[in-house]
Amino acid sequence: MKALVKKEAGTGLWLEDVPEPQVGINDVLIKVRRTAICGTDMHIFNWDAWAQKTIPVPMVVGHEFVGEIVDVGSNVIDFRPGQIVSGEGHVVCGRCRNCMAGRRHLCAHTSGIGVNRPGAFAEYLALPMSNVWEHSPGIDLDVAALFDPFGNAVHTALQYDLLGEDVLITGAGPIGAMAAAVCKHAGARHIVITDLIDARLERAAMLGATRTVNVSRESLADVQKSLGMEEGFDVGLEMSGNPKAFNDMLVNMCHGGKIAILGIPAEDTAIDWNTVIFNMLTLKGIYGREMYETWYKMSVMIDSGLDISPVITHRMGFEDFEKGFEVMNAGEASKVILNWD
Ligand code: NAD
Ligand code: ZN
Repeated sequence: MKALVKKEAGTGLWLEDVPEPQVGINDVLIKVRRTAICGTDMHIFNWDAWAQKTIPVPMVVGHEFVGEIVDVGSNVIDFRPGQIVSGEGHVVCGRCRNCMAGRRHLCAHTSGIGVNRPGAFAEYLALPMSNVWEHSPGIDLDVAALFDPFGNAVHTALQYDLLGEDVLITGAGPIGAMAAAVCKHAGARHIVITDLIDARLERAAMLGATRTVNVSRESLADVQKSLGMEEGFDVGLEMSGNPKAFNDMLVNMCHGGKIAILGIPAEDTAIDWNTVIFNMLTLKGIYGREMYETWYKMSVMIDSGLDISPVITHRMGFEDFEKGFEVMNAGEASKVILNWD
């Protein structure tokens, strides 16, 4: 089968012929139909310091996908060929305390598809049945391919009550933009999103942000005042990984404000702990998605009319992957879909 492989330690990916994956007795074999390029794939493509210490080569990469089941292992009774599915890319151990308690997103022995084990940028993917999520009938395949990053947005945004609340999202990348859509769907009042790139802010506004702020030109404190918010934001969603954005968020929260942090800072970040303490802020780190409450909420929100498709800026055949990585590297793209049909 064809697959995008990190063949050797260096920049780029290689479109190669590799053997089809073996289907274990507990596995489902999926014919991949659409994939999306994630920031993680960019790290791997560009072969940065994180990728160099994390990715064994050769490795089939990719983890954002949707496909059709074509075969199941002998233990699998809940899935059958023909079903349209995505999958949780974090394969957990199933035996640790958190896994046994049903808190699988907290497993400390997670292995990631396309990172630690063969990934989804391939014609076929074998996945344990416990990682498979069946989509609602008729779902748009391009949208279905986004359930992994959409899940990051949902997992982060739904940490706290949103109905009637004022939300600040720092970072209007694809995940920040999808989080704005979730906040809107969940009934937040003001949904203010910041970035340095106007095109990204415009896209976030299409998805549901009620006010966009280019922090290179406007101050968050002024915007807050202009919106008539007396005391600051109730909920903060950090989705930039940028230390400046995070510190800006801290000083613009109301007393008792709650912050969920998804963005991964590249370097050590100093913050003003006095603001956290005296304003009694709650800070919570967020990783991945909840298995499978986040997936359930995603399906239900899409079924009830949430449209995240404006986050898709480019669609192309998998053979054109280099173009896809190029537009991602140029910062002009939000989500790029690769078609494997
Ligand atoms: P992205 O890099 O596409 O988006 C980040 C955005 O932040 C960019 O648009 C950038 O211009 C903006 N930004 C940079 N400096 C800023 C500043 N000072 N103020 C406001 N905005 C600023 O990333 P993404 O794919 O949307 O993901 C969002 C973040 O979440 C990234 O940091 C990513 O690494 C992280 N992430 C974490 C998890 C997890 O499980 N914790 C999973 C996926 C992604
Ligand atoms: Zn575990």
